[in-house]
Amino acid sequence: MCQFKFVILFLFCLAFTAEKTDADWWHKKAVMMVKNQIEKRGVHDERVLRVMRETPRHLFIPENLKDVAYEDGPLPIGEGQTISQPYIVALMTELLQLRGKERVLEIGTGSGYQAAILSPLVKQVYSIEIVKSLSENAANKLKKMQYNNVTVKWGDGYQGWLEHAPYDAIIVTAAPDQVPQALIEQLQPGGIMVVPVGTHFQKLKIISRIQGYEIREKNIIPVRFVPMVHSEKTIYDSNKLDTIE
Ligand code: SAH
Repeated sequence: MCQFKFVILFLFCLAFTAEKTDADWWHKKAVMMVKNQIEKRGVHDERVLRVMRETPRHLFIPENLKDVAYEDGPLPIGEGQTISQPYIVALMTELLQLRGKERVLEIGTGSGYQAAILSPLVKQVYSIEIVKSLSENAANKLKKMQYNNVTVKWGDGYQGWLEHAPYDAIIVTAAPDQVPQALIEQLQPGGIMVVPVGTHFQKLKIISRIQGYEIREKNIIPVRFVPMVHSEKTIYDSNKLDTIE
């Protein structure tokens, strides 16, 4: 009987250690990711760095890419779309200068990772995704992971989300040719929008709304994002073109 108890205790310890090791593997990688890829390139907002260390990026990408989840690059998330490089996620988040009370609009929910990064840093996140399956997956995942202040909607980001406007900050994670007017109108005066603008060569810009519809633009760095499209169909068309040999 005593031996039996010992075996049970041993198995319990083994299971506990395996679970702990699993949690450890990604946390160590996330810490290294922040140190080597993000801090070294000049992102220093401690609140942003902390969420980047504590958010399980591997849970937002396909299971077979888990091992490369914390590496220095973008990754595919299905439907021809990508999750941005960790440094770009951190940089864009830092540029929004969030203090905790903001209501933020994100265009391009994708995997939901950027929304998960914003969640603990603000009061409320509204996120729009044009591909239905991506919006549904991200909404389910974020709910399951208890990101309770994130609301995802399937729709066209060019229209913004008038119902909850104005926003203190807007983050656009797909590239439009020019800054969409509806988004400027839905930005609170004094608010900040971070957006990659352009076709092949894009610039990451900060748009500050001064007063009225007057805006100030500042270029940050050259970037490459997937295009911000005008309908879900455009995405499927461009996917078909990509696979023709
Ligand atoms: N922020 C995402 C990555 C975004 S990739 C993440 O953290 O995973 C860009 C996303 O923008 C894609 O999912 C794409 O489908 C979406 N998108 C493109 N055009 C859009 C539009 N007009 N409105 C809303 N989403 C759009």
